[in-house]
Amino acid sequence: MTHETAPAHDFEAVIIGAGVLGGAIAVELARRGLRTLNVDKAPTAGAGSTSNSCAIVRFSYSTVPGVSLAWEAMHYWTDWPDYIAADDELGLITFNRCGQFNLLVGGDDHSATVRTLWEQLGIPFEEWTLDDLAQRMPVLDHGLYGPPKRPDDPHFWDDAHGTVTGALFSPDSGYVSDPQLSCHNLQRAAEAAGGEFWFNAEVTSVDRAENRVSGVTLADGRRVVAPIVVNVAGPHSAVVNRMAGVHDSMNIKTRALRHEVHHVPAPQDFDFMADGMVGADDDTGFYFRPETGNNVLIGSVDPTCDPREFVDPDDYDTSLSQEQWEAQVLRANRRMPSLGVPHEKRGVVDLYDVSDDWLPIYDRTDLNGFYVAIGSSGNQYKNAGAVGQLMSELIAAVESGHDHDASPVVMTGRYTGWEIDIGFYSRNREINADSSMSVHG
Ligand SMILES: Cc1cc2nc3c(=O)[nH]c(=O)nc-3n(C[C@H](O)[C@H](O)[C@H](O)COP(=O)(O)OP(=O)(O)OC[C@H]3O[C@@H](n4cnc5c(N)ncnc54)[C@H](O)[C@@H]3O)c2cc1C
Repeated sequence: MTHETAPAHDFEAVIIGAGVLGGAIAVELARRGLRTLNVDKAPTAGAGSTSNSCAIVRFSYSTVPGVSLAWEAMHYWTDWPDYIAADDELGLITFNRCGQFNLLVGGDDHSATVRTLWEQLGIPFEEWTLDDLAQRMPVLDHGLYGPPKRPDDPHFWDDAHGTVTGALFSPDSGYVSDPQLSCHNLQRAAEAAGGEFWFNAEVTSVDRAENRVSGVTLADGRRVVAPIVVNVAGPHSAVVNRMAGVHDSMNIKTRALRHEVHHVPAPQDFDFMADGMVGADDDTGFYFRPETGNNVLIGSVDPTCDPREFVDPDDYDTSLSQEQWEAQVLRANRRMPSLGVPHEKRGVVDLYDVSDDWLPIYDRTDLNGFYVAIGSSGNQYKNAGAVGQLMSELIAAVESGHDHDASPVVMTGRYTGWEIDIGFYSRNREINADSSMSVHG
């Protein structure tokens, strides 16, 4: 029997993608009693952009909903075994709650915005003096070198023109040990609630009957019939939106942005795994976190001097570039002079699914039954648990007739009880001028 004549497979919801967001959405929908199917073109859960995530959990966003969602979502990581509530033969992830600091550069910068929001929302933090900083992170130089520059800028190695004033420290921040494993944990949790996962299963068509989604067709010809389809395709979100015919009708669009993260051995005089923490430095333009084997993982905070490489998600350069390696590792050396520059480049290249204002889109679309959890802009790994709840409440409300566009659904966070207006993440918002327009969100 060919696929054409084979009967279609019936589900109540199809989730395109089995990354961290697709997995978390599956958990919630399956626990609501829906027969869910995650389809992913990759061979295993979390093999897309989640696999290369730095998996940093922090609350330093630029808006009240941004901070609120991240704070709510942190509780999923601290409560992981109970939240997953299923056996996973690969084991469960661990959340390393090592804390995070943001250097205070002075003036009206991102850290100043964050401090105001944390005070407003009651997010625990400490304000460190330079002495505190020296005691907690003795490997740091306190000079002011900004704004961030590229190494070929003649002023890159200029002397400091002052000092940072201290740091904001958030003790509840940290990172997840193994982002891909977290997706496997989510898969097992969804399966325990009746969800199914198909791998090596590429969606090539989002099907519709009049103005309602009717399912998807896979590259091998299999057809899946379902009244609900959720696009959680990460950097391929725009490709899938075009398949569904909703790309043009959304005010906010998404694009794949190439990004590099570099791995270097920690300074010899510092045990980064035991004493290090997550750090963000807007003065030189990088962020970092401890990495297994006493390494430091170095990312970019997207300073405006860096070129933005929007790419075709199916055709881009996956090798580390010498220019970006030097930019990020030398910036890190300005702040950590004993770090050094290894001869061999090490790190990962992957894609952010960036929205026009670097805030995600969690919404319905103009095609009834077709939903999107996209535009995660390099900063939504940490939010996965809460996004699962958000999307399942949105879908349940809209499917029972609620007009979310006219009267946005408000979610009450499962752990904090905080209210989060899902309309903030609308596909039809104007560009949010409060956004950092960077990975800070
Ligand atoms: C280098 C890097 C560092 C990051 N660091 C952090 C961080 O420190 N903290 C943080 O919070 N966030 C971070 N992020 C962002 C975070 O990792 C993402 O927001 C998150 O992983 C997105 O998850 P997802 O499930 O939406 O996407 P993905 O994990 O990309 O999953 C999408 C899946 O869809 C599948 N797919 C695509 N098209 C199709 C199709 N047609 N048919 C079937 N399947 C399809 C793909 O195979 C893929 O598995 C980082 C991202 C990157 C790239």
